[in-house]
Amino acid sequence: MKSILIATHNEHKKDEIRQILGDDFLVKSLSDFELHDEIVEDGNSFEDNALIKAKYCFEKTGIPSIGDDSGLVVEALDGRPGIYSARYAGDHDFDKNIAKVLEEMQGKTNRNAYFITVLCYFDENGAQFFEGRVYGELLTENKGHKGFGYDPIFVPEGCDRTFAEMQPEEKNAISHRKRAFDKLIEKFGS
Ligand code: IMP
Repeated sequence: MKSILIATHNEHKKDEIRQILGDDFLVKSLSDFELHDEIVEDGNSFEDNALIKAKYCFEKTGIPSIGDDSGLVVEALDGRPGIYSARYAGDHDFDKNIAKVLEEMQGKTNRNAYFITVLCYFDENGAQFFEGRVYGELLTENKGHKGFGYDPIFVPEGCDRTFAEMQPEEKNAISHRKRAFDKLIEKFGS
């Protein structure tokens, strides 16, 4: 089984990724290596941020590493909140972040948006990138209480409910994160 290090301190994220990756990989996270540094994500793109995280982990451990960066990209807002999704109005304050997006969207007729995940896989051969997107539309108010982040205002294409109204398995089957990992598995899974 291949060992793979996920560049996160977040055990919830590690578990979710372990579920997606299945039995082909032995998934480890930063806490398995006593690496307590806060990795500064100061890149100018999703790719830069994913690379910063994956490269740091590979250089510290020599184990093939994955860095990920995700966010919400809104057409009528010129791509915002984009790489600033986690801290658009308040650091990981989902309610405040949603409120800011909804306020900026007032009066806009184009409500198209997408979630994106960029993964960087880093090993002795350098970096390889994998991207997943899910397109949809933004509501004018919150609907549903499941999930996290911008889930309560995002209705994926072809659906009649927000991500926050779906069971986790339902969301995870079509999410940007799943789509990006599917591409990585296609390349590296056995
Ligand atoms: P991260 O790179 O996975 O930590 O995601 C950065 C931010 O993007 C999160 O804090 C959320 O605000 C937003 N985001 C990423 N993925 C999702 C999702 O699946 N649903 C809702 N919001 C998300």
